[in-house]
Amino acid sequence: MKVKVAILGCSGRMGRNLIQAAVEHESVELVGGSVRESSSFANFDLGELAGIGTIGQKTSVGLEDLSAADVLIDFTSIESTFENLNWCLQHNKPLVIGTTGFNDEQVKIIEDAGKQIPVILAPNTSVGVNLMFKLLEITAKAIGDYTDIEIFEAHHRFKKDAPSGTAVKMGQVIADTLGRDLNKCAVYGREGITGERSPETIGFSTVRAGDIVGEHTVFFADLGERIEITHKASTRMTFAFGAMRAAFWLSEADAGYYTMQDVLGL
Ligand code: NAD
Repeated sequence: MKVKVAILGCSGRMGRNLIQAAVEHESVELVGGSVRESSSFANFDLGELAGIGTIGQKTSVGLEDLSAADVLIDFTSIESTFENLNWCLQHNKPLVIGTTGFNDEQVKIIEDAGKQIPVILAPNTSVGVNLMFKLLEITAKAIGDYTDIEIFEAHHRFKKDAPSGTAVKMGQVIADTLGRDLNKCAVYGREGITGERSPETIGFSTVRAGDIVGEHTVFFADLGERIEITHKASTRMTFAFGAMRAAFWLSEADAGYYTMQDVLGL
């Protein structure tokens, strides 16, 4: 049986790709999508919005019309995600959160929601990126203690948060593996006379330019050699199909707080 999904934030860059992915995915059925109250796309055909032709389903304002969904998929903004999370808690609906940029306190609130509903926090829904998290863990375990670790990320000019949620997650995976506290060892940019690099730091560098979909590289650099692990996304459909996979998985899960590592069995 197909899992009924609704897309929250369906007029956004990701939202439009999510509509297309939901229509194309064999295990998923699209039952609706939400836009902001002020949106010019209110009561607009979802297929037209995604550029795939009319599908006869209209966008909604608010979530009340989306109660037929088995799972909701949120790619909106931090503030809206919490409104959506509250609705899901009130209506006992599983939620996939693709929105990024949450601080530790906000992540804790989402974790707590997992006591009541199944919820996935997935700052990156690409299968390749989640495999990269595993490769980073293996590499950090083997050589992280004596190499300089630097994380580079590049995204399109419209992205609102920096560094990307994915870059932060990469730093978190490495810090956890090495027993470091990311809040203490992260360096977000350098300028002026910075002195020599301290060995325990994990550096972050951010580029915002043009239409770059999403690129991440991690250096493990020693004197004489270095390993670079890179992931490049060339289309948002990668994230959109990953989100459908997450929604399908979540539809069968018990209440709990999950990540894409759970979805992919990594
Ligand atoms: P965007 O600004 O193009 O889209 C967000 C959309 O959400 C907008 O259309 C906005 O109007 C809508 N929105 C906001 N509040 C709403 C509400 N209450 N109800 C309905 N719609 C609402 O941004 P984007 O590039 O699509 O990214 C959205 C989020 O997803 C960002 O946090 C981004 O970093 C994240 N993202 C995650 C992944 C991933 O793999 N998890 C991939 C790409 C982007």
